[in-house]
Amino acid sequence: MSVNAEIITIGDEILYGQTLDTNSHWISGELDQLGIRVIRKTTSPDKEDEILIAFEEAEKRAEVILITGGLGPTNDDLTKPTLAKYFQVELEMNEAALEEISERYERAGWELNELNRGQAIQPMGSTKITNELGTAPGIWLERNETIFISMPGVPFEMKAMMEKEILPKLKRRFVKGKIHHKIIRTGGIPESRLAEKLQDWEKNLPSHIKLAYLPTLAQVKLRLTATGSDQEQLEKDVDEQIELCMPLIEKYVYAIGNIELEERVGQLLRENNKTIACAESCTGGYLSHLITSVPGSSDYFQGSYVAYSYDIKEKALQVDPEVLKTQGAVSEEVVIQMAKNIREVFGTSIGVSLSGIAGPGGATKDKPVGTVWIAYSDGEKTEARKFVFAKDRKLNIQLSAMVALNIIRSNLVKK
Ligand code: AMP
Ligand code: MG
Repeated sequence: MSVNAEIITIGDEILYGQTLDTNSHWISGELDQLGIRVIRKTTSPDKEDEILIAFEEAEKRAEVILITGGLGPTNDDLTKPTLAKYFQVELEMNEAALEEISERYERAGWELNELNRGQAIQPMGSTKITNELGTAPGIWLERNETIFISMPGVPFEMKAMMEKEILPKLKRRFVKGKIHHKIIRTGGIPESRLAEKLQDWEKNLPSHIKLAYLPTLAQVKLRLTATGSDQEQLEKDVDEQIELCMPLIEKYVYAIGNIELEERVGQLLRENNKTIACAESCTGGYLSHLITSVPGSSDYFQGSYVAYSYDIKEKALQVDPEVLKTQGAVSEEVVIQMAKNIREVFGTSIGVSLSGIAGPGGATKDKPVGTVWIAYSDGEKTEARKFVFAKDRKLNIQLSAMVALNIIRSNLVKK
């Protein structure tokens, strides 16, 4: 028996294009991992009659309805009174919720006012869901085989609630057998090519193991999900399949499990006793930010220059002004000089550089927006590669940094 779920996100800001609905995207992925099928997502404005319609329609189709947004204490937050109206119950003080809110305020040394106390008021018959990171508790309300779960719109509050309380509860209630997931993380290969390499292996997967391709920035994650009754057996079955597919894609796999690319690069730098410095132009320091977001990165990261202007490329990194003039800053020769020189200036084993046109301006006939040169230099060799990424500035910055990380990784595993 499969369980149907629906997600309702509430907020004018989502409909007007001011806030991207990341909540339903994240919730869908989490429910999918439990085998709970999301059959529809709806976004409602902050209007009682529209919210009522969304509730009514969802109740007809789904056993689990997850709602985010509109839970705050202000007048435009309508979810709570609308839920009470829909269930035809009164709102009452939930003592357990009040206790939690009071404790939170006391710990923080804040005064509890009426608006805050009001956050503990919930529809009769509901159960509070602890909000560890905010002051609006969530609401769990059931009738006739359907569960309504209302959460705050703030993504990190919602996620914490889901992870701590809601997902485990749903899992206990609806997931009968055992589930085992494992993620193979790849970089430097597009999804379609990966699928081509894996097609025969995928065809021969046993029926209790499913494969999902999860592409993200310059990476594709392969998620294997096994279902059955014996946890140990599932783990063995998945490992066996991973062993079979690895020879086909080994070069692109940077980790198995929950390790980010920047963490993997850190591990490899440490294992190989290498240090690194970056000379960043178009990424404005984003590559260094990723590298230093890993705890302990000071063991291998020496520092970086954000050499944005021609002037600084010349003065801080001794890039030849003649080359800058004739070839432009977004060129092979310039990134090569940047990578070599940052390595020398900082005295590191490895130097990495990036220079590109993030957009929207700055393109020329032969250098469209998204053109990025990335160079890697390690004393034995210096290599540069050109990429043409996307039209979007932010995406270009993120892609450049992720691809640079993958270049560092693939050079370190070769050693
Ligand atoms: P609310 O709980 O409606 O007061 O929402 C609080 C904040 O959470 C909003 O200002 C948004 O920035 C954010 N938010 C609300 N809904 C979503 C959503 N579906 N996805 C991402 N962010 C959201
Ligand atoms: Mg809102």
